[in-house]
Amino acid sequence: MIFAANWKLNKTSKEMEVFFSTFLKSNILKKALQDKKKIIFFPQALLSAGLSQIFNQFLNDNPILVKDHLSWGLQNTFYHNEGAFTGENSALTMKEMGGQFSLVGHSERRSLFKETNKEVSKKLVLLQQLGVVPILCFGESLELRQSGEYKDFILQQLKESLLSVDLSKRIILAYEPIWAIGTGKQASTEDIQEIGTLIKEKFPKLELLYGGSVKPSNVKAIVNQKEISGVLVGGASLDPQVFLELISSCYNS
Ligand code: PEP
Repeated sequence: MIFAANWKLNKTSKEMEVFFSTFLKSNILKKALQDKKKIIFFPQALLSAGLSQIFNQFLNDNPILVKDHLSWGLQNTFYHNEGAFTGENSALTMKEMGGQFSLVGHSERRSLFKETNKEVSKKLVLLQQLGVVPILCFGESLELRQSGEYKDFILQQLKESLLSVDLSKRIILAYEPIWAIGTGKQASTEDIQEIGTLIKEKFPKLELLYGGSVKPSNVKAIVNQKEISGVLVGGASLDPQVFLELISSCYNS
């Protein structure tokens, strides 16, 4: 099971240190890692060197915990490794620093930065070449949901985003209905199941996460669905106690 934390543009480096001074000491974390739950952090790019150092130290101190179970990635990487692309993030450099994942096509990238399916596809292709695991975000707006055309939209969005992508290599999908992100409005279990079934029919081998107002009180019902391999969490990943509670909620009956 995957718990992915999207911190967006939050936390200074000092605040990150404070977060991990609580988070990494927790028995909930130790148990989750021993149970092979996978926890992935997506900080803003400027925090990655510090985060990599904190994780390396933790893994040195806890050699029993397998490295791949606590990892990090960036919220966005570019489709070229280097060149005259002011302000972009290089996935190659991220990999060199120990980052193993990259979010691609988050709805905030698509809406605020006008990222297209074509660009998303180029990013995915490069990440696959580098051996970085992409987490491809997809999902419909409230208008599309209300119009009833959301399933066609999702399939088209995935078709265009996955163009030229090698589906035999690991790529994780994250269903994030835009109307549920940061709004407190979680998709119902029926909504998630409907999309889960649709996705598994088309892409039976790919792992599927759900994201959108996931919190300790609703996470268990989400991860209990057989199509769902984990969650992508924004707001509820910012406080170490809340994120730990969210992780431990999956164990409680
Ligand atoms: C997200 O940004 O990917 C997200 C799911 O945010 P939130 O959990 O805050 O809705």
